[in-house]
Amino acid sequence: MLDPVPRTDARPGLSGIAPDQLAAWLADRGEPLYRTRQIAEALWHGDAAAAGDVAPLPAMLRDALDASFRWDTLAATEFTQADEGLTEKALHRLGDGALIESVLMHYPARPGRRERHTLCISSQAGCAVGCPFCATGELGFARDLETAEIVDQVRQAGRRLAAQARRLTNVVFMGMGEPLLNLDRVLAAVEALNDPGRFGLGARRITISTSGVVPGIRRLTALGPQFTLAVSLHAARDALLIRRPVAEVVAAAREHAGATGRRISYEYTMIGGINDTPTDADALAQLLRGDHAHINLIPMNAVAHTPWQASPMPVIEQFAGRLREVGIATTIRRNRGAEVGAACGQLAARAAGEPPAATVARRRERLVRESAAALRGERTPDPAPVAVAVAGAGER
Ligand code: SAH
Ligand code: SF4
Repeated sequence: MLDPVPRTDARPGLSGIAPDQLAAWLADRGEPLYRTRQIAEALWHGDAAAAGDVAPLPAMLRDALDASFRWDTLAATEFTQADEGLTEKALHRLGDGALIESVLMHYPARPGRRERHTLCISSQAGCAVGCPFCATGELGFARDLETAEIVDQVRQAGRRLAAQARRLTNVVFMGMGEPLLNLDRVLAAVEALNDPGRFGLGARRITISTSGVVPGIRRLTALGPQFTLAVSLHAARDALLIRRPVAEVVAAAREHAGATGRRISYEYTMIGGINDTPTDADALAQLLRGDHAHINLIPMNAVAHTPWQASPMPVIEQFAGRLREVGIATTIRRNRGAEVGAACGQLAARAAGEPPAATVARRRERLVRESAAALRGERTPDPAPVAVAVAGAGER
């Protein structure tokens, strides 16, 4: 694995500093305690671009804040719109050049339902899990995000919405990275987002999605009902698409639901001819029969390096029907922003440039071979994490 990308700015992001640490930092400078509140108000709900812009603070304190902390850890952001403005993709460059994505999705009000504004955020630059249908998986792993880098995606979306007199209503960890492999920082970020003195978003409005990292799920279970957990399952049979034993993942999800009293939410990416047959539906129905579970079927977004495509809609409808027959709540999710590559990791992958044709051909050959083996029920070994310098891509 390559060394982590070197930092160009050693100052920590201010939004990742816990309130008691900030209070101690202020006390060291002889500042009154109410400065903590003033800073928090400007940081979490204001539109200042730097500490220097926070008018109520004395100039010396603004300079000291600037010298010690980064007000915003997102160095640059490029926005793209899709779905007639209902989906806004942001490609962020971090201080060291690493690229990450967030996607803001607007859901207009419907009868009986208020409007929603959901932000999908990244927890890592790249991902080491390497799911074969995922653009982030293809990028490989660059590094974990800092707490501030996670929450600054949310602060930015909050500011954009506030300028239109709207509020962010939901946050989902469904962008780049595996949140449960950066769990300490993800939990610190969730705490900051949830804290009424900071971002103030209800815990139930925060969803963490995992590819099935069992020790991480158990850790969340021990914490109690804090936020919503979604488990990416994609297969009811071992070795097909996920590299973890399905039964173990489902058992951990069940324990989580039992301890928290919340319904288990599964995501199942529908890939034509791979995991969408009636046999797959029946295996899934068998696996989850009797559970208080909800399944979201997601048509696969086409990704450059894979030979796979989304299952046709009638196949997805039929699959859903077989699950509903045994009483499993099933919904079909329309992919947002597909035309601008808004699926997990696709923007960053595009910015990193297309790999050479020979590399793509080799990968396709391996995927076809592995999926054929998986369909025969053979497991492929865990891959060694691949590291790539996502940072370099920022300079293109
Ligand atoms: N690593 C976590 C969270 C980020 S991925 C996880 O895997 O759950 C968020 C969701 O995007 C996952 O459910 C994943 O399966 C899905 N996803 C990844 N690539 C996709 C693609 N090409 N088309 C549709 N969904 C995809
Ligand atoms: Fe990582 Fe999730 Fe993509 Fe799998 S689907 S490679 S776990 S980001």
